[in-house]
Amino acid sequence: MAAQTLIACPECDQLQHEIALAPHAIALCSRCGAQLYRQTLHGLDYTLAFTLASVLFFLLANVFPLLRLELQGSSRSTTLFGAVTALASQELISVALLVLATTILVPALEMAAMLYILVPLKLGANVPGVAATFRFVQMIRPWGMVEVFMLGLLVSVVKLATSATVIPGVALWSFGALMFTLSAAAHFFNPRDLWLGLRPYG
Ligand SMILES: [Zn+2]
Repeated sequence: MAAQTLIACPECDQLQHEIALAPHAIALCSRCGAQLYRQTLHGLDYTLAFTLASVLFFLLANVFPLLRLELQGSSRSTTLFGAVTALASQELISVALLVLATTILVPALEMAAMLYILVPLKLGANVPGVAATFRFVQMIRPWGMVEVFMLGLLVSVVKLATSATVIPGVALWSFGALMFTLSAAAHFFNPRDLWLGLRPYG
């Protein structure tokens, strides 16, 4: 059956027969050399595991304080959402909305959507709207900028450390871990596995 399946090159539209590949091999277009598909082993399982780990780190990153500042005997700590409300209270509404969207809303939506796709697939259940959910993930993913926020946070921490005592909170470490688990989930996700997994359910 697999040998009769035709696949269109995403770059030049050349139709080619799909062939079975060895693990980690990549099929290239015979005309233009573009990547047609790749063969991964347990790609969806790894993606699910890293997505679940991401959910855990995301919850920790939002519940616990990001960092505590100690200056002249007084101490203040803030959570991620606290940082967003602090930005909003300083009339930096657009920056606050950007931080809220790129570090809280988009990662949360992306993880929820990925779990909606992957958990039923793992359990062999059929849920509606998988293709639309996947397109939604593809659309919002570029707006998840956990690593950009983390970089900005580290720069601020280094700068603040010269004038105040900065104590990193649980959320800061969790945020760092979240950055890696989200990247790992994206790395292991092979859309072809998803479509092959869905094939029996039409
Ligand atoms: Zn091609």
